[in-house]
Amino acid sequence: MVRNRLKTGAAHLLYRTGLYKFIGSLNGTKNLPVVIGYHRVVEDFAASLRTSIPSMLVSRQMFERHLDWIGRRYRVVGLEELGARMEAGEQLPPRTAAITFDDGYADFYEQALPVLQRKGFPAAVFVVTGLAGTNRIPDHDRLYLLLTRRIGRRTLPIGQGMWVQGIDQMTPYQATRILIESLPSSAISQVIETLEKEDELPEADLKPFRLLDWDQLQKIKRAGVTIGSHTQSHIVLTNETAMRVTEELAGSRAELEHKLGGTFRHFVYPSGLFTMNAVKQVADAGYKFAYIGCTHRSPEYPLLTLPRTVLWERSSLNSDYAFSGSVLSCQIHHALSIGGTCRQQHSAVN
Ligand SMILES: [Zn+2]
Ligand SMILES: [Zn+2]
Repeated sequence: MVRNRLKTGAAHLLYRTGLYKFIGSLNGTKNLPVVIGYHRVVEDFAASLRTSIPSMLVSRQMFERHLDWIGRRYRVVGLEELGARMEAGEQLPPRTAAITFDDGYADFYEQALPVLQRKGFPAAVFVVTGLAGTNRIPDHDRLYLLLTRRIGRRTLPIGQGMWVQGIDQMTPYQATRILIESLPSSAISQVIETLEKEDELPEADLKPFRLLDWDQLQKIKRAGVTIGSHTQSHIVLTNETAMRVTEELAGSRAELEHKLGGTFRHFVYPSGLFTMNAVKQVADAGYKFAYIGCTHRSPEYPLLTLPRTVLWERSSLNSDYAFSGSVLSCQIHHALSIGGTCRQQHSAVN
């Protein structure tokens, strides 16, 4: 609560004094477009909160509120236009923004797209190609669901060699995050398998996490939505072998080309995790633009390390839990993370 009050106070101060623009010049985001990321857009935030990772949710109502605020202050453009202009070395007009969605959840089609179309805003969706059109859901959602059901009942059964210090003391969110961010996907599958042996997830629980199928992806592409890649199976690039990373990057792009037709040049690093080595692999796989969750850009590949801000239901709330334009503004300018909340070792060899 105290932290939240401090954050709100700092946001007001930065916004009213215009200092957030100065911070933009310090962290290198000043002349860059504002790129926003969302995950799921839902009807009822409180109901979805019972089974979903909170920071992956925004209610349609709050989403609309964000868009209205952004629309009054920015020109919202598609990633194709943004990419073409940046590639040509053009200076983008100040106050240019783009709206993007990660993972390709089916609720994009039902909840987000109608709002975007009504407001005339272009958007982009980053697809996990190996899961699209299947009844499989991303590992982070599956793990969170299993851990939510598990924690509070007994101690966690973590399989051999998968022990993470203190995991039984963590909240389901903390445990999910640490497992996803530190283990290769083969080990995560084993953890999921172990948990599912004891507690099978009912089909109904998985339904809200279903991803767009290829028919829907074809339709949204025809409606002008940019489709980008988010790997084949949402692997965290920094936890996998170079060979697996190359396969996932190339395979995902090939599948998009095969199923949807056209060229696919945009990429988002799953879980926002990358090393400079991974950036090079993304370049080698033929992607031209990639988005990161911090402001640590690669001088060698600036267009493959474009800062983006992921928003959720509570990103723009002040300490009284009311919508605040100052808080939202500071979030999208990365002004509240000055000094750095990113703990990644981007120079590490993966
Ligand atoms: Zn993702
Ligand atoms: Zn970073």
